[in-house]
Amino acid sequence: MHELSIANSLVEIATEYLAKERVKNDESSVVKSITLRIGALSCVHKSALNFSFELVTKDTLLEGAELKVIDVPVTIFCKPCEREVELPGIQRFRCPVCDTPSADIRQGKELDIDTIEIAENASTPA
Ligand SMILES: [Zn+2]
Repeated sequence: MHELSIANSLVEIATEYLAKERVKNDESSVVKSITLRIGALSCVHKSALNFSFELVTKDTLLEGAELKVIDVPVTIFCKPCEREVELPGIQRFRCPVCDTPSADIRQGKELDIDTIEIAENASTPA
């Protein structure tokens, strides 16, 4: 369960981040959303990750937080073209412009947190 361990570390990072925000700002702040950058080569199944995230955030400070994903395409550096080119898929590591093979992967293995959005807790009971 690769995705479950990812979800767990997300919760850890976001909880720590939230704790700092609460000290600086509002003690009732909550995590509204977490945006991830996921590369096409990272082998993360988004549906499994969403499911795991819901599971591990239940009854935590992150319950109800939304998980957003930015898909990062694979790019390789093509020597003949002298630039980074984006691959249409992950089956062939060849430049889509000149068809030269390249193993110089520049992007696509990402699994990073892009943003953690903090919001005031609107549903705080009076
Ligand atoms: Zn090329």
